[in-house]
Amino acid sequence: MSGNSARVQAIQNITNHKPVAVEKPETLSKIWACDVFNLATMEQCLSKNAFKAIKKTVTTGAPLEPATADIVAAAMKEWAQQKGVKFFSHIFYPMTNLTAEKHDGFIITTPEGHAITEFTGSLLIKGEPDGSSFPNGSIRMTNAARGYTAWDPTSPPYIMQTDNGATLMIPSVFMSWTGEALDKKIPLLRSNRALNKAGRRVLELMGETDIAPIAASCGAEQEYFLVDANFANQRPDLLFAGRTLFGAPPAKGQQFDDHYFGAIPARVQVFMQDLEDKLYRLGIPAKTHHNEVAPGQFEIAPYYESANIAADHQQLMMTLMKATAKKHGFLCLLHEKPFAGVNGSGKHVNWSVGNATQGNLLDPGKTPHDNLNFLLFCGAVIRGVHKFGPLLRAAIASAANDHRLGANEAPPAILSVYLGDQLERVYADIQAGKIATSKKSGVMDLGLSEILTFERDPGDRNRTSPFAFTGNRFEFRAVGASQSVSGPLVTMNTMLADSLDWVADKLEAAIKGGLERPAAVIAVLKELMELHGNVVFGGDGYSSEWHQAAVDERGLKNIPNTADALPALREQSVKELFEKTGVLSPVELESRFEVYAEQYILSIEVEAKLVVDIAKTQLYPAATKYLAELSSTVNGLSSLGIKLDNTTASLIADKTNGMMAAVSKLSAALTQHDFDSIEAHMQFCAKDIRPLMDEVRAYADALEMEVADEHWPLPKYFEMLFIR
Ligand code: ADP
Ligand code: MG
Repeated sequence: MSGNSARVQAIQNITNHKPVAVEKPETLSKIWACDVFNLATMEQCLSKNAFKAIKKTVTTGAPLEPATADIVAAAMKEWAQQKGVKFFSHIFYPMTNLTAEKHDGFIITTPEGHAITEFTGSLLIKGEPDGSSFPNGSIRMTNAARGYTAWDPTSPPYIMQTDNGATLMIPSVFMSWTGEALDKKIPLLRSNRALNKAGRRVLELMGETDIAPIAASCGAEQEYFLVDANFANQRPDLLFAGRTLFGAPPAKGQQFDDHYFGAIPARVQVFMQDLEDKLYRLGIPAKTHHNEVAPGQFEIAPYYESANIAADHQQLMMTLMKATAKKHGFLCLLHEKPFAGVNGSGKHVNWSVGNATQGNLLDPGKTPHDNLNFLLFCGAVIRGVHKFGPLLRAAIASAANDHRLGANEAPPAILSVYLGDQLERVYADIQAGKIATSKKSGVMDLGLSEILTFERDPGDRNRTSPFAFTGNRFEFRAVGASQSVSGPLVTMNTMLADSLDWVADKLEAAIKGGLERPAAVIAVLKELMELHGNVVFGGDGYSSEWHQAAVDERGLKNIPNTADALPALREQSVKELFEKTGVLSPVELESRFEVYAEQYILSIEVEAKLVVDIAKTQLYPAATKYLAELSSTVNGLSSLGIKLDNTTASLIADKTNGMMAAVSKLSAALTQHDFDSIEAHMQFCAKDIRPLMDEVRAYADALEMEVADEHWPLPKYFEMLFIR
């Protein structure tokens, strides 16, 4: 193989790679949740009374008495110390998609000079990180930069084991000293509360008397790429932007579909098992793993859990994926589009709502009565997606995810709902008034249980929909691989709470008006479908016909990029939604808009600077060096009277000049700083910076295909995607 020496060395290193020795896998029962201070652990190390009190807090969120908090903290410290822990940390979830932590020792010293350990209830419950360096969207003035973290007792503390020691981690919320949410957890907890309240109203109207708290569940399928670190370390774009900013397409891509569900490469298998062992220790129920569509792409999906826990676990899983990959000599890429022209990575967020008494309310259930509850909840989702489609789009907007949603890739940037043929027909029949009279002995039997059992067949699913019903849950497929699931979950919970309230109002009026329950349900759903049925679509979401019809005929919005998507957060209807449901105050919502807008701008500017840098300092020198070589060859040959065709040299010179001209334009664009508004700045990034980056890249990728391999400094697509 030719190739420049660093690339050749990388390939040699990979060929000689010795698998990392991992510990012999323990049985699941031995390691399952062994590093988690969950109820089972607490039951063992607390008195009966203390356990009863904490259990109430954990299961209902009821406040914890200071005395009990002290007891729980002491037991937690004992338990952790036995496992070698000396430090603890509140872990919180700022508005970046990452986590943050501040570590404190258990140690204190006495006046006599002894070192003892201490962990009180108040230390457990409250922390005070200097939060000024976290994004807050101008909520906190610099003179009041303090932030508080507070333990979320519904999410159990755990021990994070790393090569550098073990730390007790305490999942926490993060707020300003004036009490505003600065994180992704507070709105999620609030949205669950709103959902519970509205869902309960509907169930009570449906005649239910025993109603346990209603909450959302989430199971997220995580796609990712693994690239050998020997290659990744030679790609500043991968290291700093998480994606390739340059790279010509390989001769062999994913056209052959031979990777999807194929045999998992041995080295990757070792990584997966190592990762899963770590996840099990932390009580994260990793369930499936397989190859994905693109070469070098894989997926991991844990079993679903309550939304709040699932969100914490998902975040922890991403952290562990990156750390474990590193240990195995890989760079784990969670970016939504690491390789142009190759399938991107999403995070399908499977979402349902339910409780302990009525079960999963998005499952049609076994009785006609269950069917009616189901139709109401599912109908409320349809209304929510229709009414708040642009908000859902904003909730998944990022510079990285735009490469999937706005481009010719799954899923489309138009939010529609897929129900499956039969369920779609049921709602269409309701809308058309065909079901209103089909009443058998007082109850309406729509036979949905049977229909939807059949519908669960995965072969029957529409994979082109961004928001699909899959038998007993909705699957939000447009979420990006690197994103926190909290934003989408908050949005779905909140829009559903709002819709359930609407449903409850209508149902109440219909029942008061004298209708029996089944007839009232159908009447409400008929009205709902007349207003919102336009969002239901079962066809090909990728087709250009749909893109046209969705907008022109159905009035849906096609929002290809973040600059156009984020302003939805400033719309009056969205402000009202979040304020009415108590999920986000207008100030909190506005701060989110500002933070996300800044993140969008920043990530594009960082990428653009990298493009300039790499083009100037790596690609231009490679091209000119090769040109110099060609010219001396041509001159040498000409002195022998031999004429060498110089088309290649001319072409390379042209492309090099073109690239550098585009680099100059991009550099100049990056100096522009005076914008009338943050919206204008985002638009500039979307409409000016991005296209200029693409222009540089087009020249560079053409050069990659002309310049001698031994001069090309960046590992190529086929190397990164196929060699491991
Ligand atoms: P597929 O790739 O066919 O979409 P997977 O089995 O890979 O399906 O993932 C489905 C995900 O949905 C898993 O995380 C699973 O636990 C989750 N899930 C299953 N039932 C529910 C439910 N009722 N609510 C939320 N998530 C669910
Ligand atoms: Mg899926």
